[in-house]
Amino acid sequence: MGDRERNKKRLLELLQAAGTGNAHCADCGAADPDWASYKLGIFICLNCSGVHRNFPDISKIKSFMTHNGNLRGKAKYEARVPAFYYVPQANDCLVLKEQWIRAKYERQEFMADGKTTSPPGNREGFLWKRGRDNAQFLRRKFVLLAKEGLLKYYTKEEGKGPKAVISIKDLNATFETEKIGNPHGLQITYRREGHVRNLFVYHESGKEIVDWFNALRAARLQYLKTAFPELPESELVPLITRKYLKQGFMEKTGPKQREPFKKRWFVLDPQERRLLYYKNPLDAFEQGQVFLGSNEQGYGVYEDLPKGIRGNHWKAGLTIVTPERRFLFTCPSEKEQREWLESFQDVLSRPLTPLNLLSKICSLGFVLSAKGRGQIGASQGSAVSPETELRAPDCASNIFFSSCQRRVQMVHVVVRKPSLSMHSSSVGSSALLATRGPPVPLHVRNRGLLLLAMVTPTGQLLGSWVPLPSQRKSYIGCPSFLCILPSVAALLLLPFPPDV
Ligand code: ZN
Repeated sequence: MGDRERNKKRLLELLQAAGTGNAHCADCGAADPDWASYKLGIFICLNCSGVHRNFPDISKIKSFMTHNGNLRGKAKYEARVPAFYYVPQANDCLVLKEQWIRAKYERQEFMADGKTTSPPGNREGFLWKRGRDNAQFLRRKFVLLAKEGLLKYYTKEEGKGPKAVISIKDLNATFETEKIGNPHGLQITYRREGHVRNLFVYHESGKEIVDWFNALRAARLQYLKTAFPELPESELVPLITRKYLKQGFMEKTGPKQREPFKKRWFVLDPQERRLLYYKNPLDAFEQGQVFLGSNEQGYGVYEDLPKGIRGNHWKAGLTIVTPERRFLFTCPSEKEQREWLESFQDVLSRPLTPLNLLSKICSLGFVLSAKGRGQIGASQGSAVSPETELRAPDCASNIFFSSCQRRVQMVHVVVRKPSLSMHSSSVGSSALLATRGPPVPLHVRNRGLLLLAMVTPTGQLLGSWVPLPSQRKSYIGCPSFLCILPSVAALLLLPFPPDV
């Protein structure tokens, strides 16, 4: 047996050796890595080997190696990776893998005896941001205030206030290099007036953009820890940022299902259980959203369209059934159809979390109020103030009050700071409410129903629709308001109440 043969045999043995972690790429976890770094003594995949090749001082790619094994390599180079730090997976973009590999071996940021790096905290710098109404990228100053939980960005005029102040609690960031058309393209989303606002940014430096990403993640984790103090860090980490399960073009018809099928860009957000659709992939706001409940609640997805209905350009049909209506789509190919079907099935088979329930209620109220963003002002008139903006639950002890007069009316969510706490841990039992802190006026303007809902510290959702006695400016301290509080019952997706 020649040297070459012997090396090859030895390599295979190492690759298969149990307890070494060598069956997966040491950097991205891809299965069956077929490259090895001689210097580091680890097995890596073809993609990651390309990155290693760029810094020969640290890593040498060869087919013969001294034995370390991936688990040993990880123990050494990943001894203390901060919880917020994004560890790329096999299907992640190159810039994430590249910066991870550099941080790990070149800068040795995560070694046990490495120098202590402080968590990112505040951050300030310039990013190229895509204009909302044109495709031009402009240099914008971004400021992250980690403690305050805010991200701001400024247009170029100095001294002027920020163009946008974004709350970390509604923020998501995900690399979308293909869609943005830049190898460092990052999509930042946040909620605005019940819609999802998209920002598309990049930085010339891969390190800068990944540092921004991880700084946002650090701030998000800090926020999640204060919002959900009872939950262990391991349960919070998956909530820091999220990737879309699937994106792509499909055609859709309208609610009557006689409207012509139109081509739209669809994005499936598995955590928020939402299918969002856009006219163009890089639009600032979505045209609409579909909430995806669970199979147990009567949501389903089916291959093909109902009989007698045909798409426009495409034939491969999909039907989503929700308790409210059917949604009909056609996909550009059977492969796309299969992928969408599997992605929808994946989401629909997951049980709803309490946060899913509450965000559904918030958006339900909103969707009832206005179909398009442009209509909000018109349909609400002076009734809409910043205070009535719908907000997702942001704190375990928050209580949300909303009222609705008619099906078409805006649901007002008016309490933003926790001022009441509910001492009850079981769904369905009557709850005892105690006031804490100064009373918050409830600007319930219309006679109608009040939605009282909260997420308890144990993660359960409590709430109920309750009738409002009369038109009042404030219900705190009002006897009839206090008397309905103990009647709070389990909400768990009550059907929307009938007209008052
Ligand atoms: Zn890899």
